[in-house]
Amino acid sequence: MANDDAKPAGGANKLVIRNIGLLLSGDLRQPILDANIVVAVDGKITAVGKRGDVDVAGASTTIDAKGTTLAPGLIDSHVHPVAGDWTPRQNQLGWIDSYLHGGVTTMVSAGEVHTPGRPRDVVGVKAMAVFAQRIFTAFRPGGVRIHGGAPVIEHGMVEEDFKELATAGVTILGEVGLGSVKDGKTARQMVLWARKYGIQSTIHTGGPSIPGSSLIDKDMVLETDADVIGHINGGHTALPGDQIVELCEKSTRALEIVHNGNERASLLTLRTAKELKQLDRVILGTDSPAGSGVQPLGILRMISMLAALGEIPAEVAFCFATGNTAKIRKLDGGLVAPGRPATFVLMDKAQHSAGKNLLASIQLGDLPGIGMVVVDGLVSVLRSRNTPPATTLPEVVST
Ligand SMILES: [Zn+2]
Repeated sequence: MANDDAKPAGGANKLVIRNIGLLLSGDLRQPILDANIVVAVDGKITAVGKRGDVDVAGASTTIDAKGTTLAPGLIDSHVHPVAGDWTPRQNQLGWIDSYLHGGVTTMVSAGEVHTPGRPRDVVGVKAMAVFAQRIFTAFRPGGVRIHGGAPVIEHGMVEEDFKELATAGVTILGEVGLGSVKDGKTARQMVLWARKYGIQSTIHTGGPSIPGSSLIDKDMVLETDADVIGHINGGHTALPGDQIVELCEKSTRALEIVHNGNERASLLTLRTAKELKQLDRVILGTDSPAGSGVQPLGILRMISMLAALGEIPAEVAFCFATGNTAKIRKLDGGLVAPGRPATFVLMDKAQHSAGKNLLASIQLGDLPGIGMVVVDGLVSVLRSRNTPPATTLPEVVST
């Protein structure tokens, strides 16, 4: 049921999802909503409530959630796409579609750095960024929205280059540190130029990921002051614990925890953010494709790991991968609320999980089973081919 173009076909396209057993909002301030019906028109949520409160008449599609859980589509804050649904890192096709089957409906590029022969000269860097921004805006496998076109800063770039990139539609920088700029002073200047023109920045943190990449320690992260402390838990080699704690304490920027990082360091970051009462800074990514492969279930695995080992309620861990990321990355998804995209993942506890319900099963470290993914008001995936099977599946009852 994959649809290459997730836009509704025009006219009033009304979607009603009823009989929702548990509604996860994505909002850290109120992660669970007291509601069991969601209504959307033309791909946008119009109402969230209970029978009697919301107008369910005239639906073009009705989904019976059968008492399962609905959450906003998951966001992967850190991917390295190249072109189409192909990654040369592991010579794999269809990786984005596989992530959709792991509940990921939005991805943010941290740089198209795996592009074979990627240019390092300023004109080439800019051309590739605009190209990537365009192709990933137009290409949405299964409806997945990929925010691409993330240039990696190189020596020789001047303020005018950032202005030109912003005018051309570029909104994000790739990881600072993956190009020739390795000093905090130059990086800080370029990050400031980027910010001036509305381009968000992310910095690589920790040891080199692969041969050719390099160490970025807490001093460079603090001096550069990028908007997102990219993979604060290393990619995979983490900084010493005292440096991670110092980054949490001294910086106010987003704390990005990734799947392809150091798990011990991710728990230290989470614990520190919790002590600081700053869980709103925590966002999740996979940092994939990478040397350790592609992880279709990477975001779900992070949610489960952080909930099970980090003493965080599972419904809060979902917020890290939805509302928190949307807010920090300035995306319109990530929340179940009127006006937001009708992009959802429907889940239930996996068959034979020891947990008594979905949240309990995640708290025990199990993964949920995905029964359906909806993108912009259209059903994109029925039962996931990648998660363990859900105990109960939602059903499309009328179209
Ligand atoms: Zn990195």
